[in-house]
Amino acid sequence: MKTELELRIDLAAALRLSAKLGMHEAVANHFSAAVSEDGKSFLLNPKWVHFSKVKASDLILVHSDDPNSFEKGKIDATAWAIHGQIHQLRPDIKVIMHLHPIYSTALSCLKNPTMLPVEQNSARYFNRVSYDSHYGGMADQLAEGQRLASLLQQNKRLLMGNHGVLIGSHDIGIAFDDMYTFERAAQILINAYSTGQALNILNDEVAEKTAQDWEKIEDFSIAHFEEMKSILAAEDPSFMD
Ligand SMILES: [Zn+2]
Repeated sequence: MKTELELRIDLAAALRLSAKLGMHEAVANHFSAAVSEDGKSFLLNPKWVHFSKVKASDLILVHSDDPNSFEKGKIDATAWAIHGQIHQLRPDIKVIMHLHPIYSTALSCLKNPTMLPVEQNSARYFNRVSYDSHYGGMADQLAEGQRLASLLQQNKRLLMGNHGVLIGSHDIGIAFDDMYTFERAAQILINAYSTGQALNILNDEVAEKTAQDWEKIEDFSIAHFEEMKSILAAEDPSFMD
């Protein structure tokens, strides 16, 4: 397992890169990374701080069993509840990224929000995404976190209907690349839909094989993140502070 300092640096980089790519929304949205094996202690980005400004030292260490583990007002209670419940109910998910990126969110607003396998990116998610079709307003209850964790079942991705997307992983770099690819896949799918022509959907065998091929190249995802991190470091290394 990575050290807390390494996790802080990687999480700050992932936040800044998401802003750089325009996937963030205002000063909302949350990323977290577990620092304990049971997932109960985790780092969370501070409330209402723009993703592009976050430094490693700004991330707040909280505990999912202890509402007094953080200073009131410093973090979003919604994020503490939802991320805390998912981390402890799914200890294999060490990293959770939640965003409202345009194309993934647009897909979540369709009557049929399925990420259909129409090319290599979307095929990565074939039968590997859970869907929440019960948006009930802004959630701040532990029960909502538990509901979302149970909706995930064995998956690590949740397309939240009329809301956005949640990506889990055992690694920050892989979660970042997965979020990037999910948004790109949604962009391609929405663009294909927008032509009004019928989609040429890949057959199940090809889609499944492509998804399995993606799962064999986690090193590709990590390389993507490390390359992006080095570009960020050359421009402004303050995320490491
Ligand atoms: Zn949200």
